[in-house]
Amino acid sequence: MTTVQTSTSAHGGPVAPRSSALTPLDSSEIRLTGGYWFEKQQLNAHVVLQHCEDWMERIGWTANFDRAASSETGWEHSGIEFVDSEVYKLLEGMAWELGRSHDADLAARYDRLVSRVASAQDDDGYLHTSFGRPWQPARYSNLEWGHELYSFGHLIQAAVAAARSGLDSAIVDVARRLADHLWEAFGPEGRVAVCGHPEIEVALVELGRALDEPRHVELARLFVERRGHGLLAPIEYGPEYFQDDVPVRDADVLRGHAVRALYLAAGALDVAVETGDAELADAVRRQWEATVARRTYVTGGMGSHHQDESYGADFELPPDRAYSETCAGIASNMLSWRLLLQDADPRYADLIERTLLNNVMASPRHDGRAFFYTNTLHQRTDGVAPDETESNARALSSLRAPWFEVSCCPTNVARTLASVESTFATTTPGGLQLHQYGDYDVDTALADGTVVAVSVRSGYPYTGDVTVTWREDTGREVDLDLRIPSWAGSARVGRGGAAGGAAAGEAAAGEAPDVRVGRTATVSGRFRAGDVVTVEFPLEARWVTPDPRIDAVRGQVAVQRGPLVLVLESTDLPSGDVNDVVVDTGATLETTATGASVDIARFADETVDWPYGESGGRVVPLGRVDLVPYASWANRGPSTMRVWLPTA
Ligand SMILES: [Zn+2]
Repeated sequence: MTTVQTSTSAHGGPVAPRSSALTPLDSSEIRLTGGYWFEKQQLNAHVVLQHCEDWMERIGWTANFDRAASSETGWEHSGIEFVDSEVYKLLEGMAWELGRSHDADLAARYDRLVSRVASAQDDDGYLHTSFGRPWQPARYSNLEWGHELYSFGHLIQAAVAAARSGLDSAIVDVARRLADHLWEAFGPEGRVAVCGHPEIEVALVELGRALDEPRHVELARLFVERRGHGLLAPIEYGPEYFQDDVPVRDADVLRGHAVRALYLAAGALDVAVETGDAELADAVRRQWEATVARRTYVTGGMGSHHQDESYGADFELPPDRAYSETCAGIASNMLSWRLLLQDADPRYADLIERTLLNNVMASPRHDGRAFFYTNTLHQRTDGVAPDETESNARALSSLRAPWFEVSCCPTNVARTLASVESTFATTTPGGLQLHQYGDYDVDTALADGTVVAVSVRSGYPYTGDVTVTWREDTGREVDLDLRIPSWAGSARVGRGGAAGGAAAGEAAAGEAPDVRVGRTATVSGRFRAGDVVTVEFPLEARWVTPDPRIDAVRGQVAVQRGPLVLVLESTDLPSGDVNDVVVDTGATLETTATGASVDIARFADETVDWPYGESGGRVVPLGRVDLVPYASWANRGPSTMRVWLPTA
């Protein structure tokens, strides 16, 4: 088996709906060239992928496939039931990276791993290392907790990534045979059941799109429709945990286990799009809106219960008990991206930006060798450095850990970073839309063949300037749409000509006939090679006040600088920890290169024997301190940290 680039077969990024308001770019049509995201993607390519591979090799998760393929009997499976899925998410990340870099070493590693997975497939297409052998639980004997179809979903997504990256890989045929098996097992003639962890839905729709096979979409539809009817056996957390309490089309908000809820909603929207089910699509929109309005942290994180990794009630968002699993942030972006493609509403891109730059990017350590699983918003005690040679318990949140017993987050970060630019830009027949900013090149064509070749350059997320340079003549008038982030509120748009002259000057809304500024800045015209459009967003640090119904942070403020939520980390305090600080919102916030600084005070040390009384504590000035991006905290050793600062 060899991995060959066949660019003609490549089509689409991770999501390629049959119909949508916005058309996603193929993975070959957008390329990061520098700056924040390029560095993160390079770290992923050169460190994170290998890190995940090494860990799974070391602790026997990849070897499960070798044993499954062998004639050996009675062997002991390594890891919990669904560790196959981590190998698949790694394969997905590798595929996106290979489609871009054509790296020979990575290709060889990828092919070897695919080969090991493929050799474990049963003759009827079933492929799982934890179930079905005489000494193992029977196939589909534990749909509540076994994660069999969940794992299959990740295998299928890995196959979609291979197909869309133009890799001639055996993983595509493995997925096809597996999906055929699922059709027999759970299709119209099969067992009426669902998996306890949604994921197969979103994967089957995408496989159906990639292979043009309507049966895969139909099976996804069946899984979506079956959920919410109590098909899964009772569990201690109740049916809400796996969204089996209410049919998807009847639910008003996301609830239960956050990752499950979000994967399901993404799959439901995919089904709705493919089948033209407007009612189902509206249900997902409604759930997104309610969840964003009442069940989302300022970092974009979702999930406030540790016990069952679930959403809390409306406005139940305690910062020090935030679960905010990295995977939930990734899943939230999967859902928002699908909604953005359908509705072209910049709100979805706003949430993607917030969630990516804060919740998701908090997970990988600077060196790419350790990860947060949960993402607290208030660390009250110094973290304990985890043992870097052992798998850690999943909920450890004080310092990043190299690997977890349930290690869903590192591989999810890997596949996300490998394809992160896929959500940055789209096209319509009329033009190009930029949703996220950074340094990247777009080379695509509109539906009528109009060439769109631009270079986007920006100091984002640390500076708010964006420059779009056209590299080829469009030949006709097109619209360039630039999202104005909700935190910016306004933008200064400028336009320059190819020869250095004829600059149209800076324009605000209505000042130039070819510039329209609302939630999106639209610049229209026939662009020639060398034409430049500039946008500048004000990203000075500013106070953020919570809805008073979020009791846990009432009377507190956060600081946001551009898209970045900032934190106070004890590392930056002259003394003490973050738990006794007070801030005066009348104090001047100074915007710094990557964060902000502010004068801060603290409650005076007063011994109390009962922490309730009639008067507040005495406050003493502490001096000026730096606030740093949330995503970068805990990279300088054990510390305490808080996003929300009590006001004086
Ligand atoms: Zn996770």
